[in-house]
Amino acid sequence: MVVVDAIETVRSCFESGLTRSLDWRKRQLSNLESLITENRDALCEALALDLGKPHLESWGTDLHPALAHTRFLRKNIDSWAKPQKVRLPLLGQPAKAYTVAEPLGVCLIMSPWNYPILVTLTPLASALAAGNTAVVKPSELSPTTSELLGSLATSYLDDEAVQFCQGGSEVAEELLRHRFDHIFFTGSSRVGRIVAQAAATSLTPLTLELGGKSPTYVDRSADISAAAKRIAWGKFLNAGQSCIAPDYVLVHGDVREHFIDELATTVDSFFGNDARTSSDFGRIVSPTHVERLESMITAEDCGDVVVGGSVDREARYVDPTVLVEPAPTSKVMTDEVFGPILPVLSVPSVSEAVAFIKGKPKPLALYLFATDQSVKASILNQTSSGTVLINHTMFQIAMPDLPFGGVGDSGYGRNHGRQGFETFSNIKSVMHKPSGYELDVIYPPTSKFKKSVLKRLLR
Ligand code: NAD
Repeated sequence: MVVVDAIETVRSCFESGLTRSLDWRKRQLSNLESLITENRDALCEALALDLGKPHLESWGTDLHPALAHTRFLRKNIDSWAKPQKVRLPLLGQPAKAYTVAEPLGVCLIMSPWNYPILVTLTPLASALAAGNTAVVKPSELSPTTSELLGSLATSYLDDEAVQFCQGGSEVAEELLRHRFDHIFFTGSSRVGRIVAQAAATSLTPLTLELGGKSPTYVDRSADISAAAKRIAWGKFLNAGQSCIAPDYVLVHGDVREHFIDELATTVDSFFGNDARTSSDFGRIVSPTHVERLESMITAEDCGDVVVGGSVDREARYVDPTVLVEPAPTSKVMTDEVFGPILPVLSVPSVSEAVAFIKGKPKPLALYLFATDQSVKASILNQTSSGTVLINHTMFQIAMPDLPFGGVGDSGYGRNHGRQGFETFSNIKSVMHKPSGYELDVIYPPTSKFKKSVLKRLLR
Protein backbone atom coordinates (compact mmCIF):
# COMPACT_ATOMS: atom_id res chain seq x y z
CA MET A 1 0.00 0.00 0.00
CA VAL A 2 1.27 3.48 -0.75
CA VAL A 3 2.42 5.53 2.18
CA VAL A 4 -0.36 8.10 2.15
CA ASP A 5 -3.12 5.46 1.99
CA ALA A 6 -1.51 3.47 4.78
CA ILE A 7 -1.41 6.52 7.03
CA GLU A 8 -4.98 7.52 6.19
CA THR A 9 -6.25 4.01 6.89
CA VAL A 10 -4.74 3.80 10.36
CA ARG A 11 -5.59 7.44 11.13
CA SER A 12 -9.29 6.92 10.46
CA CYS A 13 -9.19 3.69 12.47
CA PHE A 14 -7.74 5.60 15.42
CA GLU A 15 -10.29 8.39 15.07
CA SER A 16 -13.11 5.82 15.11
CA GLY A 17 -12.22 5.07 18.75
CA LEU A 18 -11.92 1.32 18.14
CA THR A 19 -8.43 1.04 19.62
CA ARG A 20 -9.40 2.58 22.96
CA SER A 21 -11.18 -0.60 23.98
CA LEU A 22 -9.06 -2.77 26.26
CA ASP A 23 -10.69 -5.89 24.81
CA TRP A 24 -9.60 -4.87 21.32
CA ARG A 25 -6.04 -4.23 22.53
CA LYS A 26 -5.82 -7.59 24.30
CA ARG A 27 -7.17 -9.34 21.21
CA GLN A 28 -4.48 -7.73 19.05
CA LEU A 29 -1.76 -8.76 21.50
CA SER A 30 -3.08 -12.28 21.67
CA ASN A 31 -3.16 -12.40 17.84
CA LEU A 32 0.43 -11.15 17.78
CA GLU A 33 1.37 -14.04 20.09
CA SER A 34 -0.35 -16.46 17.69
CA LEU A 35 1.44 -14.84 14.75
CA ILE A 36 4.72 -15.79 16.41
CA THR A 37 3.86 -19.24 17.74
CA GLU A 38 1.89 -20.50 14.74
CA ASN A 39 4.54 -19.35 12.24
CA ARG A 40 7.62 -20.22 14.23
CA ASP A 41 9.18 -22.42 11.52
CA ALA A 42 8.46 -20.04 8.66
CA LEU A 43 9.86 -17.08 10.60
CA CYS A 44 13.00 -19.01 11.60
CA GLU A 45 13.46 -20.06 7.98
CA ALA A 46 13.16 -16.44 6.82
CA LEU A 47 15.81 -15.44 9.37
CA ALA A 48 18.05 -18.26 8.16
CA LEU A 49 17.73 -16.97 4.59
CA ASP A 50 18.35 -13.34 5.51
CA LEU A 51 21.00 -13.75 8.19
CA GLY A 52 22.10 -17.39 8.20
CA LYS A 53 20.77 -17.63 11.77
CA PRO A 54 20.43 -21.08 13.35
CA HIS A 55 16.76 -21.83 14.15
CA LEU A 56 17.29 -22.29 17.87
CA GLU A 57 19.15 -18.97 18.09
CA SER A 58 16.33 -17.25 16.18
CA TRP A 59 13.75 -18.64 18.56
CA GLY A 60 15.76 -17.82 21.69
CA THR A 61 16.95 -14.33 20.75
CA ASP A 62 14.40 -12.95 18.31
CA LEU A 63 10.99 -14.69 18.43
CA HIS A 64 10.75 -15.74 22.07
CA PRO A 65 11.68 -12.35 23.61
CA ALA A 66 9.08 -10.69 21.33
CA LEU A 67 6.52 -13.27 22.46
CA ALA A 68 7.38 -12.86 26.15
CA HIS A 69 7.15 -9.09 25.87
CA THR A 70 3.75 -9.22 24.14
CA ARG A 71 2.39 -11.70 26.68
CA PHE A 72 3.59 -9.53 29.56
CA LEU A 73 1.82 -6.50 28.09
CA ARG A 74 -1.43 -8.42 27.58
CA LYS A 75 -1.39 -9.64 31.17
CA ASN A 76 -0.72 -6.19 32.64
CA ILE A 77 -2.55 -3.60 30.57
CA ASP A 78 -5.72 -3.80 32.66
CA SER A 79 -3.88 -2.49 35.68
CA TRP A 80 -1.67 0.01 33.78
CA ALA A 81 -4.61 1.50 31.87
CA LYS A 82 -6.59 2.10 35.09
CA PRO A 83 -6.53 5.65 36.45
CA GLN A 84 -3.66 5.92 38.95
CA LYS A 85 -4.64 7.88 42.05
CA VAL A 86 -2.43 10.84 43.04
CA ARG A 87 -2.31 12.26 46.60
CA LEU A 88 -2.84 15.99 46.92
CA PRO A 89 -1.49 18.53 49.43
CA LEU A 90 -3.78 20.68 51.58
CA LEU A 91 -3.62 23.47 48.98
CA GLY A 92 -5.41 21.29 46.46
CA GLN A 93 -8.12 20.05 48.83
CA PRO A 94 -10.90 19.22 48.51
CA ALA A 95 -10.33 17.37 45.24
CA LYS A 96 -9.55 14.05 43.65
CA ALA A 97 -6.67 13.59 41.21
CA TYR A 98 -5.35 10.80 39.08
CA THR A 99 -3.28 10.15 35.98
CA VAL A 100 -4.63 8.18 33.09
CA ALA A 101 -2.71 6.71 30.15
CA GLU A 102 -4.39 7.75 26.94
CA PRO A 103 -3.30 6.58 23.48
CA LEU A 104 -1.19 9.00 21.43
CA GLY A 105 -2.72 8.27 18.03
CA VAL A 106 -0.86 7.08 14.93
CA CYS A 107 2.67 5.81 15.56
CA LEU A 108 5.46 5.25 13.07
CA ILE A 109 7.74 2.30 13.88
CA MET A 110 10.98 2.03 11.91
CA SER A 111 13.21 -0.97 12.47
CA PRO A 112 16.60 -2.43 11.48
CA TRP A 113 17.53 -5.88 10.19
CA ASN A 114 19.62 -7.49 12.92
CA TYR A 115 16.80 -8.93 15.09
CA PRO A 116 14.07 -8.04 12.62
CA ILE A 117 11.25 -9.70 14.55
CA LEU A 118 12.13 -8.48 18.02
CA VAL A 119 12.85 -4.87 17.02
CA THR A 120 9.70 -4.65 14.90
CA LEU A 121 7.12 -6.54 16.95
CA THR A 122 8.19 -5.37 20.40
CA PRO A 123 7.50 -1.66 19.79
CA LEU A 124 4.40 -2.61 17.77
CA ALA A 125 3.09 -4.60 20.76
CA SER A 126 3.73 -1.65 23.10
CA ALA A 127 1.98 0.73 20.68
CA LEU A 128 -1.08 -1.52 20.39
CA ALA A 129 -1.19 -2.17 24.15
CA ALA A 130 -1.38 1.58 24.66
CA GLY A 131 -4.32 1.82 22.23
CA ASN A 132 -2.57 3.30 19.19
CA THR A 133 -2.58 2.45 15.52
CA ALA A 134 0.71 2.05 13.67
CA VAL A 135 2.52 2.26 10.38
CA VAL A 136 5.50 -0.09 10.41
CA LYS A 137 8.59 0.28 8.21
CA PRO A 138 10.79 -2.82 8.61
CA SER A 139 14.28 -3.09 7.12
CA GLU A 140 14.94 -3.71 3.46
CA LEU A 141 18.14 -5.55 4.42
CA SER A 142 16.24 -8.52 5.88
CA PRO A 143 13.75 -8.70 2.97
CA THR A 144 12.40 -12.24 3.48
CA THR A 145 11.59 -11.64 7.14
CA SER A 146 10.20 -8.14 6.52
CA GLU A 147 7.87 -9.36 3.75
CA LEU A 148 6.73 -12.33 5.81
CA LEU A 149 6.03 -10.15 8.85
CA GLY A 150 4.03 -7.76 6.67
CA SER A 151 1.86 -10.49 5.18
CA LEU A 152 1.33 -12.23 8.54
CA ALA A 153 0.35 -8.92 10.12
CA THR A 154 -2.40 -8.57 7.51
CA SER A 155 -3.80 -11.99 8.46
CA TYR A 156 -3.38 -11.82 12.25
CA LEU A 157 -3.85 -8.15 13.14
CA ASP A 158 -6.59 -5.66 12.43
CA ASP A 159 -5.30 -4.23 9.16
CA GLU A 160 -7.29 -1.04 9.65
CA ALA A 161 -5.01 -0.42 12.63
CA VAL A 162 -1.64 -1.76 11.47
CA GLN A 163 -0.11 -1.14 8.07
CA PHE A 164 3.33 -2.27 6.91
CA CYS A 165 5.17 -0.12 4.34
CA GLN A 166 7.98 -2.12 2.74
CA GLY A 167 11.01 -0.61 1.05
CA GLY A 168 14.29 1.17 1.61
CA SER A 169 15.34 4.66 2.58
CA GLU A 170 13.10 6.25 -0.08
CA VAL A 171 10.00 4.83 1.65
CA ALA A 172 11.34 5.87 5.06
CA GLU A 173 11.97 9.40 3.79
CA GLU A 174 8.48 9.58 2.30
CA LEU A 175 6.98 8.44 5.63
CA LEU A 176 8.93 11.07 7.51
CA ARG A 177 7.32 13.81 5.42
CA HIS A 178 3.99 12.98 7.09
CA ARG A 179 2.66 13.85 10.50
CA PHE A 180 2.63 11.13 13.22
CA ASP A 181 1.78 11.28 16.90
CA HIS A 182 4.91 9.35 17.86
CA ILE A 183 7.94 7.98 16.02
CA PHE A 184 9.78 4.97 17.40
CA PHE A 185 13.06 4.51 15.54
CA THR A 186 15.54 1.67 16.05
CA GLY A 187 18.75 1.77 14.02
CA SER A 188 22.02 3.56 13.47
CA SER A 189 23.05 6.94 14.88
CA ARG A 190 23.49 8.22 11.32
CA VAL A 191 19.87 7.59 10.35
CA GLY A 192 18.73 8.45 13.88
CA ARG A 193 19.94 12.01 13.27
CA ILE A 194 17.93 12.22 10.02
CA VAL A 195 14.81 10.96 11.83
CA ALA A 196 15.35 13.38 14.74
CA GLN A 197 15.55 16.31 12.31
CA ALA A 198 12.34 15.25 10.56
CA ALA A 199 10.58 14.82 13.92
CA ALA A 200 11.80 18.24 15.10
CA THR A 201 10.19 20.09 12.19
CA SER A 202 6.75 18.81 13.19
CA LEU A 203 7.50 18.61 16.95
CA THR A 204 6.69 14.90 16.85
CA PRO A 205 7.68 13.01 20.00
CA LEU A 206 10.41 10.51 19.26
CA THR A 207 12.04 7.46 20.77
CA LEU A 208 15.53 6.71 19.46
CA GLU A 209 16.92 3.23 20.06
CA LEU A 210 20.45 3.50 18.68
CA GLY A 211 23.67 1.53 18.95
CA GLY A 212 27.29 2.36 19.67
CA LYS A 213 30.24 0.80 21.44
CA SER A 214 29.11 -1.19 24.49
CA PRO A 215 32.13 -1.76 26.75
CA THR A 216 32.96 -4.78 28.91
CA TYR A 217 35.30 -4.64 31.87
CA VAL A 218 36.85 -7.85 33.19
CA ASP A 219 38.31 -7.30 36.64
CA ARG A 220 41.03 -9.41 38.22
CA SER A 221 38.46 -10.48 40.83
CA ALA A 222 36.25 -12.04 38.12
CA ASP A 223 35.76 -15.74 37.43
CA ILE A 224 37.86 -15.57 34.26
CA SER A 225 36.70 -18.79 32.67
CA ALA A 226 33.01 -17.89 33.13
CA ALA A 227 33.68 -14.34 31.89
CA ALA A 228 35.35 -15.59 28.70
CA LYS A 229 32.49 -18.00 28.02
CA ARG A 230 29.73 -15.44 28.64
CA ILE A 231 31.46 -12.70 26.65
CA ALA A 232 32.17 -15.02 23.69
CA TRP A 233 28.53 -16.14 23.72
CA GLY A 234 27.18 -12.57 23.74
CA LYS A 235 29.70 -11.37 21.18
CA PHE A 236 29.37 -14.12 18.59
CA LEU A 237 25.60 -14.59 18.81
CA ASN A 238 24.07 -13.45 15.49
CA ALA A 239 27.68 -13.14 14.23
CA GLY A 240 28.15 -10.11 16.48
CA GLN A 241 25.37 -8.11 14.82
CA SER A 242 23.62 -7.16 18.07
CA CYS A 243 23.10 -3.62 19.30
CA ILE A 244 24.06 -4.70 22.83
CA ALA A 245 26.88 -7.12 21.92
CA PRO A 246 30.03 -6.53 23.99
CA ASP A 247 31.80 -4.22 21.52
CA TYR A 248 35.23 -4.34 23.16
CA VAL A 249 36.81 -5.71 26.34
CA LEU A 250 38.97 -3.90 28.85
CA VAL A 251 40.72 -6.55 30.93
CA HIS A 252 42.73 -5.99 34.08
CA GLY A 253 46.43 -6.47 33.21
CA ASP A 254 46.91 -9.12 35.94
CA VAL A 255 44.48 -11.52 34.22
CA ARG A 256 45.01 -10.55 30.59
CA GLU A 257 46.85 -13.72 29.46
CA HIS A 258 44.50 -16.00 31.35
CA PHE A 259 41.45 -14.26 29.83
CA ILE A 260 42.78 -14.39 26.26
CA ASP A 261 43.65 -18.11 26.62
CA GLU A 262 40.15 -18.83 27.96
CA LEU A 263 38.59 -16.84 25.13
CA ALA A 264 40.51 -18.82 22.49
CA THR A 265 39.56 -22.13 24.13
CA THR A 266 35.92 -21.06 24.36
CA VAL A 267 35.66 -20.04 20.68
CA ASP A 268 37.13 -23.40 19.73
CA SER A 269 34.71 -25.28 21.99
CA PHE A 270 31.71 -23.31 20.65
CA PHE A 271 32.41 -23.47 16.90
CA GLY A 272 35.34 -25.90 16.33
CA ASN A 273 38.52 -24.90 14.40
CA ASP A 274 36.51 -23.66 11.46
CA ALA A 275 33.36 -21.74 12.42
CA ARG A 276 32.39 -21.77 8.73
CA THR A 277 31.29 -25.37 9.17
CA SER A 278 29.44 -24.78 12.44
CA SER A 279 25.65 -24.73 12.31
CA ASP A 280 25.74 -22.44 15.37
CA PHE A 281 27.45 -19.48 13.72
CA GLY A 282 25.63 -16.94 11.51
CA ARG A 283 26.55 -14.86 8.48
CA ILE A 284 26.97 -11.14 7.83
CA VAL A 285 23.94 -9.33 6.44
CA SER A 286 25.48 -7.80 3.29
CA PRO A 287 28.71 -7.65 1.26
CA THR A 288 29.17 -3.99 2.30
CA HIS A 289 29.21 -5.02 5.95
CA VAL A 290 31.68 -7.86 5.19
CA GLU A 291 34.03 -5.34 3.59
CA ARG A 292 33.62 -2.95 6.51
CA LEU A 293 34.53 -5.72 8.97
CA GLU A 294 37.42 -6.95 6.84
CA SER A 295 38.91 -3.46 6.85
CA MET A 296 38.88 -3.55 10.67
CA ILE A 297 40.85 -6.81 10.77
CA THR A 298 43.38 -5.88 8.09
CA ALA A 299 44.18 -2.37 9.35
CA GLU A 300 47.80 -1.98 10.44
CA ASP A 301 46.81 -0.59 13.82
CA CYS A 302 44.26 -3.34 14.64
CA GLY A 303 46.61 -5.16 17.08
CA ASP A 304 47.41 -8.89 17.10
CA VAL A 305 44.90 -11.31 15.63
CA VAL A 306 44.93 -14.11 18.24
CA VAL A 307 41.73 -15.89 17.19
CA GLY A 308 40.23 -16.16 13.68
CA GLY A 309 40.84 -13.35 11.21
CA SER A 310 39.70 -14.92 7.95
CA VAL A 311 36.93 -13.60 5.72
CA ASP A 312 34.98 -15.17 2.85
CA ARG A 313 33.27 -12.38 0.95
CA GLU A 314 31.26 -14.70 -1.32
CA ALA A 315 29.79 -16.54 1.66
CA ARG A 316 29.31 -13.31 3.69
CA TYR A 317 31.40 -14.99 6.37
CA VAL A 318 33.74 -13.44 8.94
CA ASP A 319 35.55 -15.63 11.47
CA PRO A 320 34.91 -15.17 15.17
CA THR A 321 37.95 -12.97 15.67
CA VAL A 322 39.83 -11.68 18.71
CA LEU A 323 42.20 -8.72 18.34
CA VAL A 324 44.60 -7.92 21.16
CA GLU A 325 45.76 -4.38 21.93
CA PRO A 326 44.46 -2.49 18.90
CA ALA A 327 45.37 1.21 18.85
CA PRO A 328 42.67 3.30 20.60
CA THR A 329 42.49 5.33 17.36
CA SER A 330 42.01 2.25 15.12
CA LYS A 331 38.76 1.76 13.20
CA VAL A 332 37.82 -1.20 15.38
CA MET A 333 38.10 1.00 18.48
CA THR A 334 36.38 4.07 17.09
CA ASP A 335 33.45 2.67 15.03
CA GLU A 336 30.69 0.40 16.34
CA VAL A 337 32.02 -3.10 15.42
CA PHE A 338 28.63 -4.76 14.76
CA GLY A 339 30.23 -8.03 13.68
CA PRO A 340 32.15 -11.01 15.12
CA ILE A 341 35.33 -9.11 16.00
CA LEU A 342 36.28 -8.64 19.64
CA PRO A 343 39.05 -6.16 20.48
CA VAL A 344 40.71 -6.74 23.87
CA LEU A 345 42.75 -4.06 25.61
CA SER A 346 44.44 -4.34 28.97
CA VAL A 347 44.12 -1.70 31.66
CA PRO A 348 46.15 -1.42 34.87
CA SER A 349 43.20 -0.69 37.18
CA VAL A 350 39.47 -0.22 37.44
CA SER A 351 39.93 3.55 37.51
CA GLU A 352 41.70 3.38 34.12
CA ALA A 353 38.77 1.34 32.82
CA VAL A 354 36.34 3.98 34.11
CA ALA A 355 38.37 6.76 32.47
CA PHE A 356 38.46 4.87 29.16
CA ILE A 357 34.70 4.25 29.18
CA LYS A 358 33.96 7.86 30.12
CA GLY A 359 36.17 9.03 27.24
CA LYS A 360 33.63 7.60 24.78
CA PRO A 361 29.96 8.43 24.17
CA LYS A 362 27.50 6.92 26.67
CA PRO A 363 26.77 3.34 25.57
CA LEU A 364 23.56 1.33 25.28
CA ALA A 365 24.95 -1.49 27.44
CA LEU A 366 27.83 -1.92 29.83
CA TYR A 367 29.09 -5.30 31.03
CA LEU A 368 31.11 -5.84 34.13
CA PHE A 369 32.73 -9.06 35.33
CA ALA A 370 33.85 -8.88 38.96
CA THR A 371 33.23 -10.31 42.38
CA ASP A 372 34.84 -7.40 44.26
CA GLN A 373 31.98 -5.18 45.51
CA SER A 374 34.09 -2.01 45.44
CA VAL A 375 34.89 -2.60 41.76
CA LYS A 376 31.20 -3.08 41.00
CA ALA A 377 30.38 0.12 42.88
CA SER A 378 33.12 2.08 41.05
CA ILE A 379 31.80 1.15 37.64
CA LEU A 380 28.12 1.53 38.55
CA ASN A 381 28.56 4.91 40.24
CA GLN A 382 31.07 6.49 37.88
CA THR A 383 29.79 5.52 34.43
CA SER A 384 26.53 6.13 32.59
CA SER A 385 24.88 3.72 30.14
CA GLY A 386 21.39 2.68 29.08
CA THR A 387 21.72 -0.71 30.79
CA VAL A 388 24.27 -2.57 32.94
CA LEU A 389 24.62 -6.31 33.30
CA ILE A 390 27.00 -7.70 35.89
CA ASN A 391 28.64 -11.08 35.29
CA HIS A 392 26.84 -11.95 32.04
CA THR A 393 25.94 -10.48 28.65
CA MET A 394 22.78 -9.84 26.59
CA PHE A 395 20.18 -11.12 29.09
CA GLN A 396 18.89 -7.69 30.05
CA ILE A 397 17.11 -7.20 26.71
CA ALA A 398 14.98 -10.32 27.17
CA MET A 399 13.51 -9.39 30.57
CA PRO A 400 9.95 -8.21 29.83
CA ASP A 401 9.63 -5.60 32.59
CA LEU A 402 13.21 -4.28 32.61
CA PRO A 403 13.12 -0.98 30.72
CA PHE A 404 15.36 -0.98 27.66
CA GLY A 405 16.91 2.02 25.92
CA GLY A 406 19.93 4.26 25.61
CA VAL A 407 21.32 7.47 27.01
CA GLY A 408 23.20 10.26 25.23
CA ASP A 409 24.52 9.03 21.88
CA SER A 410 22.91 5.60 22.30
CA GLY A 411 19.42 7.13 22.14
CA TYR A 412 16.57 8.24 24.36
CA GLY A 413 13.23 6.89 25.55
CA ARG A 414 12.46 3.40 26.79
CA ASN A 415 10.66 0.30 25.61
CA HIS A 416 9.62 -2.97 27.30
CA GLY A 417 7.08 -3.60 30.03
CA ARG A 418 5.31 -0.74 31.73
CA GLN A 419 7.78 1.84 30.42
CA GLY A 420 7.10 0.69 26.86
CA PHE A 421 3.38 1.10 27.47
CA GLU A 422 4.00 4.60 28.85
CA THR A 423 6.27 5.55 25.93
CA PHE A 424 3.28 5.11 23.65
CA SER A 425 0.84 6.85 26.02
CA ASN A 426 0.07 10.37 27.07
CA ILE A 427 0.06 10.21 30.86
CA LYS A 428 -2.75 12.70 31.35
CA SER A 429 -3.21 14.39 34.73
CA VAL A 430 -6.82 14.85 35.75
CA MET A 431 -8.04 16.79 38.80
CA HIS A 432 -11.69 17.04 39.94
CA LYS A 433 -12.80 19.85 42.26
CA PRO A 434 -16.24 19.83 43.84
CA SER A 435 -18.31 22.80 42.71
CA GLY A 436 -20.05 23.42 46.02
CA TYR A 437 -17.03 24.49 48.03
CA GLU A 438 -15.02 27.70 47.54
CA LEU A 439 -11.54 28.41 48.87
CA ASP A 440 -12.47 32.08 49.27
CA VAL A 441 -9.07 33.12 50.54
CA ILE A 442 -7.61 33.00 46.98
CA TYR A 443 -10.02 35.61 45.65
CA PRO A 444 -9.66 39.40 45.92
CA PRO A 445 -10.08 41.60 47.78
CA THR A 446 -7.21 40.58 50.03
CA SER A 447 -7.66 40.86 53.79
CA LYS A 448 -5.47 40.30 56.81
CA PHE A 449 -7.31 37.05 57.58
CA LYS A 450 -7.00 35.77 53.96
CA LYS A 451 -3.31 36.64 53.93
CA SER A 452 -2.63 34.68 57.10
CA VAL A 453 -4.50 31.60 55.79
CA LEU A 454 -2.70 31.81 52.42
CA LYS A 455 0.63 32.16 54.18
CA ARG A 456 0.00 28.85 55.94
CA LEU A 457 -1.21 27.13 52.78
CA LEU A 458 1.73 28.32 50.70
CA ARG A 459 4.38 27.43 53.26
P1 NAD B 1 19.83 1.82 9.79
O1 NAD B 1 19.82 3.06 10.61
O2 NAD B 1 20.62 1.80 8.54
O3 NAD B 1 18.32 1.42 9.37
C1 NAD B 1 17.24 1.44 10.27
C2 NAD B 1 15.96 1.83 9.50
O4 NAD B 1 16.14 3.12 8.95
C3 NAD B 1 15.65 0.88 8.34
O5 NAD B 1 14.26 0.62 8.33
C4 NAD B 1 16.06 1.70 7.11
O6 NAD B 1 15.31 1.41 5.95
C5 NAD B 1 15.78 3.12 7.57
N1 NAD B 1 16.59 4.10 6.83
C6 NAD B 1 17.74 3.91 6.14
N2 NAD B 1 18.17 5.06 5.58
C7 NAD B 1 17.26 6.01 5.93
C8 NAD B 1 17.12 7.41 5.65
N3 NAD B 1 18.01 8.06 4.90
N4 NAD B 1 16.07 8.06 6.18
C9 NAD B 1 15.16 7.43 6.93
N5 NAD B 1 15.24 6.10 7.22
C10 NAD B 1 16.25 5.41 6.72
O7 NAD B 1 20.28 0.67 10.79
P2 NAD B 1 20.65 -0.82 10.43
O8 NAD B 1 21.94 -0.86 9.71
O9 NAD B 1 19.48 -1.50 9.83
O10 NAD B 1 20.85 -1.43 11.92
C11 NAD B 1 22.04 -1.41 12.61
C12 NAD B 1 22.09 -0.34 13.67
O11 NAD B 1 20.93 -0.42 14.51
C13 NAD B 1 23.27 -0.51 14.60
O12 NAD B 1 23.85 0.73 14.87
C14 NAD B 1 22.66 -1.11 15.86
O13 NAD B 1 23.40 -0.87 17.03
C15 NAD B 1 21.33 -0.43 15.89
N6 NAD B 1 20.34 -1.19 16.66
C16 NAD B 1 19.87 -0.67 17.82
C17 NAD B 1 18.96 -1.40 18.59
C18 NAD B 1 18.41 -0.86 19.89
O14 NAD B 1 17.46 -1.45 20.41
N7 NAD B 1 18.95 0.20 20.45
C19 NAD B 1 18.51 -2.64 18.14
C20 NAD B 1 19.00 -3.13 16.94
C21 NAD B 1 19.92 -2.39 16.20
